[in-house]
Amino acid sequence: MPWMQGYPFYLLMGCVLSLYMGVSSYKYRSTPGRRYLWILMLLVSLIFAATAGEIISVSFQAKLWWKNLQQPPLFLSTIFTYAVIKEYVSRSVEGLARRLALFCIPVALDVALIFTDSYHHLMRSGIGLATVAGVTGIVVHPTVLSMILIAYDQMFGLYAVYLLALSLLNSPKYYFRRNLMLLGGLLIPVLSVFLLPLLRITITGFTAFTYLPPILAGYLSIFRDPRLSLYPLAKSKIFENMKDGIVLTDRYDNIIDINEAADSMLRSLLKEQQEPRNNTWMGRSIHLLLNRYEDIASQYSKRIEGQFEIKAPGEEGAWFGVSLIATERGKAETTGMLMVFSDLSEKKRYERELLHQATVDDLTGLYNRRHFMRLLQQYPVRDGAGLALLLFDIDDFKLINDTYGHMAGDLALVNFSRKILAEYENKGIAGRVGGEEFAVCFFTGSENEALKEAECFRETMGGHVVHLGEGHSIRLTVSIGIAFTERSDVTFEDLYRQADEALYLSKATGKNRVTLGREPAIREALKG
Ligand code: GH3
Ligand code: MG
Ligand code: MG
Repeated sequence: MPWMQGYPFYLLMGCVLSLYMGVSSYKYRSTPGRRYLWILMLLVSLIFAATAGEIISVSFQAKLWWKNLQQPPLFLSTIFTYAVIKEYVSRSVEGLARRLALFCIPVALDVALIFTDSYHHLMRSGIGLATVAGVTGIVVHPTVLSMILIAYDQMFGLYAVYLLALSLLNSPKYYFRRNLMLLGGLLIPVLSVFLLPLLRITITGFTAFTYLPPILAGYLSIFRDPRLSLYPLAKSKIFENMKDGIVLTDRYDNIIDINEAADSMLRSLLKEQQEPRNNTWMGRSIHLLLNRYEDIASQYSKRIEGQFEIKAPGEEGAWFGVSLIATERGKAETTGMLMVFSDLSEKKRYERELLHQATVDDLTGLYNRRHFMRLLQQYPVRDGAGLALLLFDIDDFKLINDTYGHMAGDLALVNFSRKILAEYENKGIAGRVGGEEFAVCFFTGSENEALKEAECFRETMGGHVVHLGEGHSIRLTVSIGIAFTERSDVTFEDLYRQADEALYLSKATGKNRVTLGREPAIREALKG
């Protein structure tokens, strides 16, 4: 066959082509799915080069040396085919490099035995020359040991085919065509190991050509398709740079993927007690976290989706929102879970601030009227337990404003509130219910006790000097109205009205005094 005269040049062209693809792929080695592809291409280039060397050499010894030189790249190319596919189909390639190194140990043994075979004949039972279609190359008769090592190597090729075929079932539409092409290309060298002997194709170096389709397919599909080159990269960039934390767990509840945000969120949630081993959460159980949050754990274990809000330990602990998302719908327990963590600390801080603004009076720091009324309404009144409501109104406060100014009036109000707080903070609730009107509510044994309490406060207040700045100081007097009840069916409106009326009486009868209101029911009866 005249075209067979160019056979060594075809091999050299294959060598150059795969060398070119390998070198140009090198710079993309950090993109997902491409870490090992350039190595595979260089290995194929080496197979071509060594095969061309075998054919071009004249002496038997030189041919044999080239033949032996083909063995390392031939064996390694199968293992690296597996590595390329494994990395291409799965995001989680933790420990792949270590595994590859282990897988290569028998290959190193094989190569060492082949190069020293002339001393022990463990690998080849016979070596000769054969000329097929004008091409003269070495023919070896492998021993059983050699066959076992070849079979070991071929398993990686078969496994790679299996992995790719499996991923084909789940791949999105536009991946499908490319993956199919990759699978088709990959099948050629894997199947040719079995098919070439069957078809009696014995031309030296033909194996090298069977590797061209998969690396061409790899090159075209993994490097040349912009969607494939950008999409996984963009996806992984989004994943890494997202503000939200993402944790993916497998069916055994171990973390198999985590982004940077989630890494630091888990650190803050598990504070000190559970620093990640080797600085990584990968492979660790998610129960380290779920042990602390029972409600999430119970939904997680049933693979039920849900949303939660959790707080990191510590006083000023950060807040996080947690969303549970099942990776496969309808399948419980056998699927992984996706957990999305969002930082709610700012929102919670804002909520606290809003709550504070809505419930607390700016000037005095006491509860405002609305909140005091709400608390009063919810006060847990029990039959037989005496409840007292005291209303305070500072006497002639307008005069203080008129004499010393509004600012001085404010100071007096703050001063008065501090007195109220000091007296009643631990007893019950206290609020500012008007400009210079205050209220407190607390449990007490009897109306006499409430009366004594109020009298005592009125007296201390009368003796208390309030400094208003600029050398001015005054004494405040206060009128107080008391409502008291031991019944749980009295409404807070009744109670309040009772205290208000009593306060009115205090004012009307000369100020700076305490008046005990009458029980609402009795008053109603009197009216009737
Ligand atoms: P009475 O003894 O009858 O209670 O007389 P009074 O002057 O205390 O009562 P009145 O209700 O006539 O006046 C209350 C005054 O309190 C009027 C208002 O200017 C003043 N006031 C209300 N809120 C504030 C405040 O936040 N700061 C200051 N400085 N004054 C206030
Ligand atoms: Mg008033
Ligand atoms: Mg007043």
